[in-house]
Amino acid sequence: MADRTLMHMTAARLRDAIARREVSAREVAEAALAQVEALDARVHAFNQVTPDLALAAAERIDRMVAAGEDLPPLAGVPAGIKDNMNLLGTRTTCSSRILENYESVYTCTAVQRLLDAGALPIGKCNMDEFAFGSSTENSAFGPTRNPWDLERVPGGSSGGSAAAVAARMATVSLGSDTGGSIRQPGALTGTVAVKPTYGRVSRYGLVAFASSLDQIGPFARTVEDAALVLQAIAGKDPMDATSVDEPVSDYIAALDAGVAGLRVGVVTDMLELEGCAGEVRASVERAAKAFADLGADVGEVELPMSRHGLSAYYIIGPAEASSNLARFDGIRYGYRVPDAEDVLDLCMRSRAEGFGTETIRRVMLGTYALSAGYYDAYYGQAQKTRTLIMREFAEAFERFDVLLTPTSPTVAFKIGEKASDPLAMYLSDVYTIPLNLAGLPGISVPAGLCEESGLPIGVQIAARHFDESTMFRAAAALEGALGLDMTPPLVRET
Ligand code: GLN
Repeated sequence: MADRTLMHMTAARLRDAIARREVSAREVAEAALAQVEALDARVHAFNQVTPDLALAAAERIDRMVAAGEDLPPLAGVPAGIKDNMNLLGTRTTCSSRILENYESVYTCTAVQRLLDAGALPIGKCNMDEFAFGSSTENSAFGPTRNPWDLERVPGGSSGGSAAAVAARMATVSLGSDTGGSIRQPGALTGTVAVKPTYGRVSRYGLVAFASSLDQIGPFARTVEDAALVLQAIAGKDPMDATSVDEPVSDYIAALDAGVAGLRVGVVTDMLELEGCAGEVRASVERAAKAFADLGADVGEVELPMSRHGLSAYYIIGPAEASSNLARFDGIRYGYRVPDAEDVLDLCMRSRAEGFGTETIRRVMLGTYALSAGYYDAYYGQAQKTRTLIMREFAEAFERFDVLLTPTSPTVAFKIGEKASDPLAMYLSDVYTIPLNLAGLPGISVPAGLCEESGLPIGVQIAARHFDESTMFRAAAALEGALGLDMTPPLVRET
């Protein structure tokens, strides 16, 4: 019988236990697979489970242990991978019918680095189709459910990666974040979730949504584990020209530095936005007080331009997406209608049948915004707004080292609640999108449970470009001060 309690251990502790021979990597892989077996029929975090890959990776680690070799930093750590990242030996479906049978022909750089660090690939995680969404309901293969309440969404688009970690089916996971798709599901599932600086992590092998916004980042249950994963995947990659050749600092060394004297800016006008739940506001205020009690220099700042981030994002994001998705034409990749009359018919019907509603909406929005006669009014305006948001952040970071905001305006909502109202769904990312537009790093840290619903609430900490160290340092201090137990009832009962 596999010992599923191993799945309660953090990545850092698992690796140490394996190094000390208290447990084998194989036993850890079996524990993760048993947890998937026990819970995933209800949660549906995975599109594909990969026991063969996980056990083969575990065997490599166990051989290293037997040979007395030094272990890599994530040795024997079960990891989930969002299904828009290529991994040889798996399908990369993007939770879309059009790629349902698409076999990866190479491995994404970030995934390869995670595996090189010793992680065990447990499977490919469910997501909103092509990462369009905030609830994982836009998956062609059915929604993922929130382990805190199976009637609710886990957020999105990386909802499967978030739910896998929250439900202890994976110790860490990778997601992608274009407008909030790591941080928002992190907040809704009580996990730690990081969007790195644009350029910090290679996008090679990630199916592109909006190439000027997309970043890969980790989910974990502790700030330390998230830092370990980012440490493993960060850094220049010759295969992605937008990855940056900045040194990757030692994130773990930064964790214990404390926040005495750190200048923390609470973004007050974001708290006033209509739709921000009272409990969410209270969590930000509680976090601000925790920082002050720890000796940080807490002040207030307003970011009025960021309010327009959502509008700019819903021009720029779909514009880039419509261009990136042109490659799914029924000829080069994926699904093709069997009975096409000619090439145009083949292309049009393969797309119409292969893409879901939200994907079609994004392609139409983007194509419209880029069309002659509208380009200046929409795309041009959105880019100018983006520049103004960048400047506003640059000014704020002259006064503050980190900025504190909510991650999501609400706790996890019910499955179906916003499915027919795209605008309500889009509002889920009002606090996370500005960081993507400005290319800044952000982390969502659990900050409490809603008194009424018992559901997790997260706060977002943003830092300067490539200053993930300070971001992690502040997050670790807050995590330590709050001392929360973020075990979902489903996990406690099983
Ligand atoms: N929810 C946002 C959207 O639907 C962000 C998605 C993402 O970050 N991939 O576009």
